Amino acid sequence: MSKNLLYKLLAVVMLASLVLSACGASGSGDTGGDKKLVGISMPTKTSTRWISDGESMVKSFQDLGYDTDLQFADNDIPNQIAQIENMVTKGADVLVIAAIDGSTLSDVLGKAKEAGVLVVAYDRLISKTENVDYYATFDNFGVGVIQGTQLLNGLGLTPGEAAPAGVGPFNVELFGGSPDDTNAFYFYDGAMSVIQPFIDSGTIVIPSGQMGMDVVGTLRWDGAVAQSRMENILSANYTDKRVDAVLAPYDGLSRGIIAALRGVGYGTADQPWPVITGQDAEVASVKAMIAGEQTYTVFKDTRELAAQTAKMVDQALKGETVDVNDTKTYDNGVKVVPSYLLTPYSVDINNYEKLLIDSGYIKAEDLK
Ligand code: BGC
Repeated sequence: MSKNLLYKLLAVVMLASLVLSACGASGSGDTGGDKKLVGISMPTKTSTRWISDGESMVKSFQDLGYDTDLQFADNDIPNQIAQIENMVTKGADVLVIAAIDGSTLSDVLGKAKEAGVLVVAYDRLISKTENVDYYATFDNFGVGVIQGTQLLNGLGLTPGEAAPAGVGPFNVELFGGSPDDTNAFYFYDGAMSVIQPFIDSGTIVIPSGQMGMDVVGTLRWDGAVAQSRMENILSANYTDKRVDAVLAPYDGLSRGIIAALRGVGYGTADQPWPVITGQDAEVASVKAMIAGEQTYTVFKDTRELAAQTAKMVDQALKGETVDVNDTKTYDNGVKVVPSYLLTPYSVDINNYEKLLIDSGYIKAEDLK
């Protein structure tokens, strides 16, 4: 073999290995084959549920033969947009997005559509764009109904039934989720659909007078914001009365509210905890439930949501019929997004072991 030919061959081999390693860098676990790449954009790691969602999704997609690129955006909108843009540049075939603010992604999703990317809104609706193909979530109004029902049951009331004679009036305060997340409105409306009749009849009173999502919303689902709002409510309205129940739509807010209540002496024999709701079955809140501080939470099995999402993506990419069960509810302002809604479950001290531990969602030792 001539020296020239040998150099040429070497150059070809080096080029080939460069190309291969560049491919290898495009997604976690890429083996350089023709696997499709799924970009998974999660909002934050501050809430444990999104970490579980991310992990479950990587597993579900990899089980179906996909490559994944999982990113968390630290609740920072420009960061999430940049991460998604980067996924598109890297050649993602699919984007699965749990938006921080569902209305901020129109531009980047326009680019994604031009590149032929399939877009799935994960748990949170993406609004103000036609470039969202599917939505996988839970029955969000149903979550709210569960939370409202929990609050009523905790007070000895039953939705749709008149209060027993001599029961109430009860002092209740209301908290909503982040106003840039459409879920927050479904949760609030669902809860109020069962609570409002008791306000109308005077069985429930809201001493702060604060009602409606424009007043009770909690930007970015921030527990510290909920804590300081609760502290203000307590000092302005409760020096001469007791809080009987608090509607909280998410465990992180529930714990902030508990901290505010603890600060003014709740959680003692003289001043027992009010009824407090929540959502997500976070370990810290299940512990608070065992300690008697938080009364309820809502379990949404994020493993199921991840598996359903991967299934829908796989069906769409194979040109099969995509498994949706709701084509009416989720109007994003531009279109009704075909959706799959999973079932949420009410959790309290009596059923948490069965729902959360027996199902493997939480390890018993993590609750110690
Ligand atoms: C999710 C809830 C979660 C909340 C805060 C919502 O979009 O549906 O499960 O508690 O965000 O992270």
